[in-house]
Amino acid sequence: MFCWLSRLYLGFSTPTGRITHLIRSSLSRTLVLTSQRRIPEFSSFVARTNTCGELRSSHVGQEVTLCGWIQYRRQNIFLVLRDFHGLVQVVIPQEESTASVRKILCEAPVESVVQVSGTVISRPPGQENPKMPTGEIEIKVKTAELLNSCKKLPFEIKDFVKKTEALRLQYRYLDLRSFQMQYNLRLRSQMVMKMREYLCNLHGFVDIETPTLFKRTPGGAKEFVIPSREPGKFYCLPQSPQQFKQLLMVGGLDRYFQVARCYRDEGSRPDRQPEFTQIDIEMSFVDQTGIRSLIEGLLQYSWPIDKDPVVVPFPSLTFAEALASYGTDKPDTRFGMKIIDISDLFRNTEVGFLQDALSKPQGAVKAIRVSEGTKYLKRKDIDSIRKFAADHFNQCSALGKLRLECADLLEARGLVLRDPALFSFLWVVDFPLFLPKEENPGELESAHHPFTAPHPSDLQLLYTEPEKVRSQHYDLVLNGSEIGGGSIRIHDAELQRYVLATLLKEDVNLLSHLLQALDFGAPPHGGIALGLDRLICLVTGAPSIRDVIAFPKSFRGHDLMSNAPDSLPPEELKPYHIQVSWPADSEAEKSSLNQPSHPES
Ligand code: ASP
Repeated sequence: MFCWLSRLYLGFSTPTGRITHLIRSSLSRTLVLTSQRRIPEFSSFVARTNTCGELRSSHVGQEVTLCGWIQYRRQNIFLVLRDFHGLVQVVIPQEESTASVRKILCEAPVESVVQVSGTVISRPPGQENPKMPTGEIEIKVKTAELLNSCKKLPFEIKDFVKKTEALRLQYRYLDLRSFQMQYNLRLRSQMVMKMREYLCNLHGFVDIETPTLFKRTPGGAKEFVIPSREPGKFYCLPQSPQQFKQLLMVGGLDRYFQVARCYRDEGSRPDRQPEFTQIDIEMSFVDQTGIRSLIEGLLQYSWPIDKDPVVVPFPSLTFAEALASYGTDKPDTRFGMKIIDISDLFRNTEVGFLQDALSKPQGAVKAIRVSEGTKYLKRKDIDSIRKFAADHFNQCSALGKLRLECADLLEARGLVLRDPALFSFLWVVDFPLFLPKEENPGELESAHHPFTAPHPSDLQLLYTEPEKVRSQHYDLVLNGSEIGGGSIRIHDAELQRYVLATLLKEDVNLLSHLLQALDFGAPPHGGIALGLDRLICLVTGAPSIRDVIAFPKSFRGHDLMSNAPDSLPPEELKPYHIQVSWPADSEAEKSSLNQPSHPES
């Protein structure tokens, strides 16, 4: 299990094709990369000489100092020590002269942190453990120090021990000791490192931080509000650095990227977090093809070597094609079972409900061929498909959901439809620029954000039938999840003003700075943002994005460890000119204001 670390640090895919050409085109850049392709020095500057997980037969005879946590102890003879790199067996000395070392190693509770020094020796013949990477050796201890003792734990630090997510989040610092969390966070760090390398060293991007105290952006997601000391004035946490990255293009920064923290106050959803991370990118003088090639190269370059390689270019579908064939704008293309239109077969039948459907405007009869359905699906499954169809009747996304439901049922019966090792990327393009507003379908809202440029062939429709205009937006989909999206932007101030004021009925004063900037020689530009948490979640196969974030919020947006958000006493709110108006049913909460509060369970 613990060879993973070396693989992780060595293991990044060798770029091929166009990318290889780009890399090879500059020898000096290639040299920089080559020198970075080595296992890092894990024991520099610290008290240990080696990590627990790295010791092998080749180290026999070496004097080593190790620091780690006590994983378990066997019969007061062996102790297994653990660090992020792996496990190693330590022999507890039995001689009278070593009584003090023995006492420390026999009495320290499990998960106490100790430092031991001694010699690496071969295990006696027959006692090797082939399941353990360090299983050929053990440590003959000379000295030991208890660095810190561990009290009784809320759960054991073992991967197979089941614990609720609430408990894991409450004691996140203990949960982080698990192999899985170590792997996920280290893989994340490595992929981000490779992305930086690709963007900055190979393609001249500039890593620029943008403010997180900002103001409200009209349209789009709901933002978190931050009070200021000026009465009635508030900052907002940015839902993305969208305006700043466009302004950087006006400022001539040309190729920007940032590992950007974004905030959206959208309530709880299983695969969302109120704060999340994007790989945010913007370029001047670029078109859709340019952005797509950049991202394909970026993913190929940063992809871990222990996964199936990324094949480029990624296929693409228009929004209309995706809806027609898969019933969703984020199709899982790892399997077929596409939706097919069979209206023509039924035009002349007398089946009442089909005739009824076909007589409606845009009415159609569509089908999904469940391959091997007769072989795998039981009567119970067919009944559940029927119920599913009835429950979702009249939703246009019904067939898309039904397709996934059928895939779940087939897989539950043992058919492997979605190979877990397969990564199926897809571009979805030609989205509508506007959608009817949910609360008032007579008005329009941006399908993505108001800075997205219209499709050049639909420009004229903007002034006649804006609801028919396609946009220059593109989404990147991986295995049925949207992992990124972006667009070519409007760089003409007049057009931007028309979209905001006339079509979207937004207050243009809120964006006067951006409109003004577009008037001062803004270059044509476009960009994209990749959702880093979701991407890493799919790469690692983690069940939730919370498993790839060191300190995530709970499903309800709480930090279960520190209990944020928390109340503040009225005197601390005074400088912000804020008073809480307590809802009638929250008396209990009000009275708990000065008492310690308890985390959600
Ligand atoms: N800012 C956009 C978002 O967060 C991405 C983009 O258009 O580049 O979805």
